[in-house]
Amino acid sequence: MKTPRGTSTTDIGGFRSAFEKCRVPEFSPRHITPAILHPVIERIASGSGGVVRLERGGNSFGGMPIFTAAAGSGPTRILLWTQMHGDESTATRAVGDLLSHFAATAGSDPTRDLLSKLTVTAVPMLNPDGALKCMRRTAQGIDLNRDAIALRTPEARFLTDLCRRVSPHYCFNLHDQELSTVGDSAEITAVSLLAPACHPDRSDNAARRSARNLASFMAGIATALAPGKVARYDDAHEPRAFGDTFQGAGYPTVLLESGHIRGDVDKEEVRKINFVMLSAALTMIAGGNVAGAGTGNYDRLPVNGKRAYDTIIREVTVGSGSDAYRTDLGISRQVDTHPEEPPRLVDAGDLRLFAALEEIDGSRISVEPADLVLNAPFEYSRLMRP
Ligand SMILES: [Zn+2]
Repeated sequence: MKTPRGTSTTDIGGFRSAFEKCRVPEFSPRHITPAILHPVIERIASGSGGVVRLERGGNSFGGMPIFTAAAGSGPTRILLWTQMHGDESTATRAVGDLLSHFAATAGSDPTRDLLSKLTVTAVPMLNPDGALKCMRRTAQGIDLNRDAIALRTPEARFLTDLCRRVSPHYCFNLHDQELSTVGDSAEITAVSLLAPACHPDRSDNAARRSARNLASFMAGIATALAPGKVARYDDAHEPRAFGDTFQGAGYPTVLLESGHIRGDVDKEEVRKINFVMLSAALTMIAGGNVAGAGTGNYDRLPVNGKRAYDTIIREVTVGSGSDAYRTDLGISRQVDTHPEEPPRLVDAGDLRLFAALEEIDGSRISVEPADLVLNAPFEYSRLMRP
């Protein structure tokens, strides 16, 4: 038997160059709709010689297909799903890249070995109705990740049935998170990880212990790729969420949240980190040494802080004459992570503890007090006069 690979010896460079070779070009836009995804996964599956098996597994409330893409025939079963929230597409792109990699390298020893040990079942867009409109919720207006108990949506029923059928050894619940800092630092979180809680008191079961090991391994990979930019997601128990529910049912589940990197407007870097983390995690699982990862890398992660805005304009002058004062302005473009929203003014005052993707020196800029309406659209480039 081969020596299982640990964090220190994992071939991160190899996974990075695999990404460059198999990156799906159609997934360049940050937002992925069913019309972009479906032809790509159909092409990957039909050109894979049976390595990637595509199935219309279910239907959304709006009647759109929900596809599953499976690869491998090994005894260890993996279940991944993406875009449960329709506007969170980074992992959809990375999972598409992964399927493209499996198809392109099916004849190579590493991929053949991996797929002889694992059966990977991916749902690369669980909420196609939401994805179509770039909105978080389903066509019923329901947050799918609060429907794991009531199962009021066909998408939730589909995922629950699929999980029972697959009976996975490991699940990956793949999302995009709100803009956050790493703890109270000025670093923006590039990715965060969580082994979701399965009890209100946050105590562990066997599944969560296993998920912690896997998350710890992935934290090591992520930290090597984006040092100081990796966080732990809030571990408050949410019984209506799928991660918590599956963990409680005994399926080890890791939540991976794609965050943000300064200058990475289309989240291409975050997509690549996703690909490498998932590739390394699958290789680790196939090697059978998840427990050997320990929990140190995971336990040491700072939690996500809520101290980040898309743009901060520092030291703007408001008004004129003796009433004039200086303030910092916090601006969001991602209310509900919706990229088409106009920028909104969401905070004003002393924002020295907050970080931003874009920092603007406002010391030579003035605005009128009437222009500063919190939570209203704020077209700051037009309003400001130097
Ligand atoms: Zn989400």
